Amino acid sequence: MLSVEEAQARVLAEVAAGPAESVALAEAQGRVLREEVRASHDLPPADNSAMDGYAVRAEDIAAVPVRLPVTGDIPAGHPSATALAPGTAMRIMTGAFVPVGADTVVQVELTDGGMGGMEEVTISRALARGANIRHRGEDVREGAVVLRPGVRIGAPELAMLAAMHRTRVAVARRPVVAILSTGDELIDAGDAPAAGKIVNTNAWLLSALVSEAGAIPHPLGIVRDTKEATVAALRTALESDFVITSGGVSVGAYDFVKEALEELGAETKFWRVAMKPGKPVVLSRYEDRLIFGLPGNPVSCFVSFHLFVAPALRAVMGEERTIPKVRMKVTAPLKSAGDRRVYVRVQVTAVDGVLVARPLATQGSGSLSSMIDANGLAIVEEGVRVVEAGEEADVLLLGGL
Ligand code: AMP
Ligand code: MG
Repeated sequence: MLSVEEAQARVLAEVAAGPAESVALAEAQGRVLREEVRASHDLPPADNSAMDGYAVRAEDIAAVPVRLPVTGDIPAGHPSATALAPGTAMRIMTGAFVPVGADTVVQVELTDGGMGGMEEVTISRALARGANIRHRGEDVREGAVVLRPGVRIGAPELAMLAAMHRTRVAVARRPVVAILSTGDELIDAGDAPAAGKIVNTNAWLLSALVSEAGAIPHPLGIVRDTKEATVAALRTALESDFVITSGGVSVGAYDFVKEALEELGAETKFWRVAMKPGKPVVLSRYEDRLIFGLPGNPVSCFVSFHLFVAPALRAVMGEERTIPKVRMKVTAPLKSAGDRRVYVRVQVTAVDGVLVARPLATQGSGSLSSMIDANGLAIVEEGVRVVEAGEEADVLLLGGL
């Protein structure tokens, strides 16, 4: 059977970076940047004061205490029209541009604060030239690359784009992902409970996962367990950029997803991966569309989404990030039959400042409650039957530590 790595490689072999689009800065949060952004100017744009205090020449305060005439007042946003004359000081506020002629700022705490009136100030400590000045270009030099394509735009990236006077930015178009839920047992959350029926929770699970990945979920509802219904639903779903189906990919008598894909003429790229949960997952291609046939069990859906669908969505958007894999101790044994790789739902927490993984009590692939606290997937490799408490395992960090 195919290894997870081989399956992931096959997924990525099918996906090229998709189109970019220009959006207003106010729409850019959470989007994947698709251009290299270079500094249009130095940051800060001019030498400015890091303190409230007095702009002086270092040589004028070499012997202290020293009393200097105060020849001006420079609030932030109002640069001095005149240069600082030797042997004088100007009062200056944090962020105000340092006047020509000054090379040092003395913080107000090291002066008498001009107590004798605004006309003079006594400075009680000598400072090195350049003290308390944020120099032009010390943050960013004009022309330097400040943002690389492939980053997810968050708060610092937005601040940098704004600093560069950008009002629009090129980001990845968000792919639309159709979601089909196969199963005669399924009803909607708003329907009355009925014998033999369960709620279509996968549609909600997968829609949220698609959104979190930065794409647009397009849930198309429940598909009855017949080949005809599955073919018809897939035809509609194939109008979207990607298709995810849940259920119906195993070897059950009413599992029609694979047959329906074949009927449509889609090409199977793989079926079944050596992993637990999620083994029966299918990757199929129809023209330029990829179809991910995920198993019906919610946890299998969750794990196979993270392992196969999320990387495809990141690749089409050109996002650089991958899921971090971190080695850490487990607080209770991780168990496996040893026949294939197992992904164990764990809660990663910091204990005495060190990350540890606590396996969640229930590990059934139908267990919704076991996903609630899971923020990591601990890996038990094929051939390993147990990772004992206190031993280390690789853990995929899904986020939300
Ligand atoms: P299947 O892969 O179709 O054999 O389904 C495996 C298990 O997942 C069965 O217990 C199904 O009832 C359950 N299941 C399938 N689809 C969904 C869904 N959309 N929401 C919740 N559970 C589902
Ligand atoms: Mg089914």
